[in-house]
Amino acid sequence: MAKKYLIETFGCQMNVHDSERMAGLLDQAGYEPAGDERDADLIVINTCSVREHAEDKLYTRLGELRVLGEETGHRPLVAVAGCVAQQEGAALLRNTNGHVIDIVMGTQRLRMLPALVERAERSPFPEVDISPMDDVSFPLGMARRADPVKAYVTIIEGCNDYCAFCVVPYTRGRERMRRRADILDEVRQAVDSGCREIQLLGQIVNHYRAPDDPQCDFAQVLAEVNDVPGVQRIRFASPHPRHAGTRLIEAVRDLPRVCKHMHLPVQSGSTRILEAMRRRHTREEYLDLVRRIREAIPDIALSTDMIVGFPGETAADFEQTVSLVEQVGYHSMFSFKYSPRPNTLASKRMTDEVSEAEKTARIVALQARQRDIQLRLHERAVGTTVHVLVDSAGRRRDGEISGRTTGNTVVNFPVPAGEPGPWMGRTVAVGIRRAGPNSLWGEAAAGQTGGGVAGA
Ligand code: SF4
Repeated sequence: MAKKYLIETFGCQMNVHDSERMAGLLDQAGYEPAGDERDADLIVINTCSVREHAEDKLYTRLGELRVLGEETGHRPLVAVAGCVAQQEGAALLRNTNGHVIDIVMGTQRLRMLPALVERAERSPFPEVDISPMDDVSFPLGMARRADPVKAYVTIIEGCNDYCAFCVVPYTRGRERMRRRADILDEVRQAVDSGCREIQLLGQIVNHYRAPDDPQCDFAQVLAEVNDVPGVQRIRFASPHPRHAGTRLIEAVRDLPRVCKHMHLPVQSGSTRILEAMRRRHTREEYLDLVRRIREAIPDIALSTDMIVGFPGETAADFEQTVSLVEQVGYHSMFSFKYSPRPNTLASKRMTDEVSEAEKTARIVALQARQRDIQLRLHERAVGTTVHVLVDSAGRRRDGEISGRTTGNTVVNFPVPAGEPGPWMGRTVAVGIRRAGPNSLWGEAAAGQTGGGVAGA
């Protein structure tokens, strides 16, 4: 009987896609997906260390597995992958919340997973492999995609920017670009397998330069993916503001398949704090970029990442953040309380001087303000008709299915009783009737069925 695996994923889209790749590798090695942890012979925990809270989840999970082992005697092989594995290496084996770790595998060693599992099965000692690897190619068609509508396609791995708060350059390594031909092959393969939306991933996705064609920049990749037959929508994450120039703005404006949404991380609204963060852009430059984007694409939706409580952030700096959020009017925002991350400049050279209580007060205030902004923006959509790519028919609740607009807003709408599956991957015109801070509700325009309409 085939052995079974379970992959648990914490963190960003990059990690989600790494898990899809690991699943494909294990499938090829003869493993099968397990229903749950009790059924699994191998559990891979794909970790995130971008925030302290995310890292803690690994130790909590290891504790749960220990309890499960004590209660049931079930002892699957446990592999820790992802950013915590890369960051801690063999040191991780000393801090396991009482649970044995069999494999520690770094972010650049995914392809070694089947070999490490095989070795760990035969050895009483843990396997640790966190060595760097420059090769960012991956066998075509190997990833076991978890989402039937959206396909993640990595175009850059790693980052050279070393923002003062960020652990990514230490866990994901130096920036490495994927070959343009490999990217396009993977896009075609994803479309052939039924995916309709392509999400291009890179730590600084708009820094792309093709190693196999130095003339090819990120705007060119967008244009070439736009031309792949069957692609309905293209998204990308995340561009860095300082590399967002006219070519990118014009590509988003002019290419019909590229969604009119840009996630533009800013991290703070205070130039003083941006400088301390080593972000290499000021508040004024960022706002000027937003102005240029909106001039070119008036209906674009913007989203961002924000950190509150960075060392040295005063009440006045925080007010600058709030005022920037109000000025830009983001459609959504990921906001976090600062926590020092291992190896980073901020953790080594700056004192974490904003109290936890103050960080909490600031993030609560910021999120409340953002919630009001989102509600205001969403209310403007009431009475209009939007085109929704249905991506969660399988998670239908209360007779509703949902999808996203080109601006990345979630829209829920009811469908007649019966099998919702045929709606998946369809682009449907939905008349908006009601707005909430996080999503919209509406009704499919008359005459539409699970057959939907083509295009975005
Ligand atoms: S650009 Fe800065 S925040 Fe983004 S991954 Fe690189 S170091 Fe981290």
